[in-house]
Amino acid sequence: GSALDRLPAATRERVRNHPCFSEDAHQHYARMHVAVAPACNIQCHYCNRKYDCANESRPGVVSELLEPQQAADKVAAVAAHIPQLSVVGIAGPGDPLANPERTFATFRLIAERTPDLRLCVSTNGLALPEAVDTLCRYNIEHVTITINCLDPDIGAEIYPWVFWNNRRVRGRKGAEILIEQQQLGLERLVERGMLVKVNSVLIPGVNDQHLTEVSRAVKAKGAFLHNLMPLIAEPEHGTFYGLMGQRAPRASELRALQTECAGDMAIMRHCKQCRADAVGMLGEDRSAEFTLERIATME
Ligand code: SF4
Ligand code: SF4
Repeated sequence: GSALDRLPAATRERVRNHPCFSEDAHQHYARMHVAVAPACNIQCHYCNRKYDCANESRPGVVSELLEPQQAADKVAAVAAHIPQLSVVGIAGPGDPLANPERTFATFRLIAERTPDLRLCVSTNGLALPEAVDTLCRYNIEHVTITINCLDPDIGAEIYPWVFWNNRRVRGRKGAEILIEQQQLGLERLVERGMLVKVNSVLIPGVNDQHLTEVSRAVKAKGAFLHNLMPLIAEPEHGTFYGLMGQRAPRASELRALQTECAGDMAIMRHCKQCRADAVGMLGEDRSAEFTLERIATME
């Protein structure tokens, strides 16, 4: 059977309800992200926070930063209008776990107001190991970690610095800390039975030769799904990489890597690289219908 068939029934249920974790669910269930987390604790060369965390984002309109209460109001309004809504995630515009007060206040308010919704979060992983207990306590069911490398020399080309113990740690040393934290966070989540998806950004000439190893390693540690995403490198996006002339991968390169990594593990091929305030079925963005101004006038 498939990887899904081998899971315990309760876990299968959680997968089936999440449009990103199950290719099948994405036709039946909707998700939304609330943009409550502005700060980030690392710097990625591909990031442009004028838009959204490139953990899961494409250039577009800047998301409207919400206060936790506003986010819970918005979730309730969307749930009332989109009955397929099954999952609410926090994915940016910075790193949710670098904004723990705002992130967990939002999850608490959503759980009080709309208790049937499943909660998910995505993170770069730096602050993850210490957050695992809290994530479990708040009943977060799905976690996505963006892991682009295991090798700190490659990491140094992706991450100019991380903010660690109140100071900026640059280059290889910083990347090493990030990589350790990501792997430890992944292990702790799996121990606790959390469903973990790993996102990797394919950066030609930087980590393209390395991602099959990443895929094998995260699978061995128990990640449920690997989502290989293309780097968005356009000068209009304004990333360092865009400015330095780094190219994005071709569709054929992405497909080849996905096939190479597929093996036994579920590979996500239906990711839409949503904005940090996306609303609706995957591939559909109804965020413009649910701005603060609009929800204030809804029933
Ligand atoms: Fe930007 Fe996200 Fe990287 Fe932080 S983790 S620097 S928000 S892409
Ligand atoms: Fe799902 Fe990809 Fe959108 Fe995240 S960015 S909500 S994984 S489709």
